[in-house]
Amino acid sequence: MGTSLGFQRFHPEGTNDLEHDTNSTQSAMMNPTSHPLGTSPREQGEGAEGEPRLNSSTALHTRGAGEPRANLRTLPSVFAGAFFVFVCFVVSTCTAADDLPAGFQRIKGKYIDVITDLPLDAEIRSLPTVFDAAMPRWCEEFDMDLEDVADWHIEAFVMLRRDEFKKAGFIPSKLPAFPYGFQFGNQVWVVEQPSPYYRRHLLLHEGTHWFMNRKYGDHGPPWLMEGTAEWLGTHRWDGKNLTMGIIPKTKVEVEYWGRISLIQKQLVDGVAPSLEEILKYDNKAHQNVEAYAWSWAAVSFLKNHPGTNKAFAELLKQKMTSDQTLTRWLFRKLQSQWPQIRSEWNTMLTELEYGYDPSRGMLAMSRIAKPIGDKPITLELAADRSWQTTGVKIAEGDTVTIQGNGEYSVCDKPKPWRCQAAGVTLEYYRGEPLGKLLMTVAVSQDKEQFSQPIEVITVGEQLEYTAKQAGELHFRINESSGGLGDNSGTVTVTIRKQ
Ligand SMILES: [Zn+2]
Repeated sequence: MGTSLGFQRFHPEGTNDLEHDTNSTQSAMMNPTSHPLGTSPREQGEGAEGEPRLNSSTALHTRGAGEPRANLRTLPSVFAGAFFVFVCFVVSTCTAADDLPAGFQRIKGKYIDVITDLPLDAEIRSLPTVFDAAMPRWCEEFDMDLEDVADWHIEAFVMLRRDEFKKAGFIPSKLPAFPYGFQFGNQVWVVEQPSPYYRRHLLLHEGTHWFMNRKYGDHGPPWLMEGTAEWLGTHRWDGKNLTMGIIPKTKVEVEYWGRISLIQKQLVDGVAPSLEEILKYDNKAHQNVEAYAWSWAAVSFLKNHPGTNKAFAELLKQKMTSDQTLTRWLFRKLQSQWPQIRSEWNTMLTELEYGYDPSRGMLAMSRIAKPIGDKPITLELAADRSWQTTGVKIAEGDTVTIQGNGEYSVCDKPKPWRCQAAGVTLEYYRGEPLGKLLMTVAVSQDKEQFSQPIEVITVGEQLEYTAKQAGELHFRINESSGGLGDNSGTVTVTIRKQ
């Protein structure tokens, strides 16, 4: 304990995905030594609605077991807490004022007390349940047992009228002005959001900072902290079950989140950062909302891709430091694959949309692909998987003939649609018939460049193709990755060099 790190960032992360993606962030640096209790804050934020707003949260060092809580304000005494529990039995709302000034109410969970000035509707009352449900997931992600965290506890201020919280002394004057969310020690602040989803998202984002800071006693590089908090903050809650780390199926289920729309727009605009640029974000990068989206995408890629997931899991077992030590460690670990990773990353971004499902497979280049020879090559490709490698590479200027044969089905309800390599014209996806055979030539990229969509080539039943550059051939059928799960059968692909 006592190490101090100290920077804090605010982020605006919010984007209003329903109507407009927006947000802006601000960040501020704090002198590490200025934090009381030797904690270092971290933050993040998200904006919503059309206004640029920021959320900020801070993560810090937290107390060790047995130490007093590192709260910035006086905690209610044990006796007051006991009294409160008693009162809860008497007052059915379980939100008696206990030690709180008028206008505030407390809702207690196992690991969290939520203090709010909002009317206690079902959504607000469910916040402690949501947070408590996140604890096993955080434990799983960060290799902890529930027993290890049995005495961990946090106070969350969910604020409609921020000034009232200030007046009541709930926002320490040492905290910077944060727009959305903030975490500091065993406390988090969440500014009221226009959607219940986004309110929970912020709470889980800040909660992830809190958990990581307690686990690691420090925090890692910006992309990792914010990307992980965003990744675990993105969730599905049905009133009973919490699923964290989802890729949303629709915009509607994550109102005001907006990450995917922002990434898609920047890809189209040609201003998408390279993966390396994201991993090198400094402490101020998350002043801009897009840094949250890209950090989320980077973590989603590294966690899911078969070529990087082991290294990422190992990364989370390392000692955290807020400089670039861990990022350099990751670069070294993946150095030999990096030219291929650039291409694999671009492929994920090309596929990324609401409902994207990396479990359907992610394009993974062969470590050593074989040059195509004179003998025809025949492969069976699964209709229910995303990009599948051939292990065959072609050289620039090579001309190949590709044929797609066989019958497979797309969709299974109400009845399967039988489909051949030309696809079915009952439905189109990205401008081509559903189920049509597609190809891409995955190119190892020796140099860093902006992230950009990959070239997807429509094959159908037959195509003669001359390679514009050398690369490895990959195939799939035309459908969103989220829609592949109900397909069945295979397509036979034959490749002949001319
Ligand atoms: Zn954050």
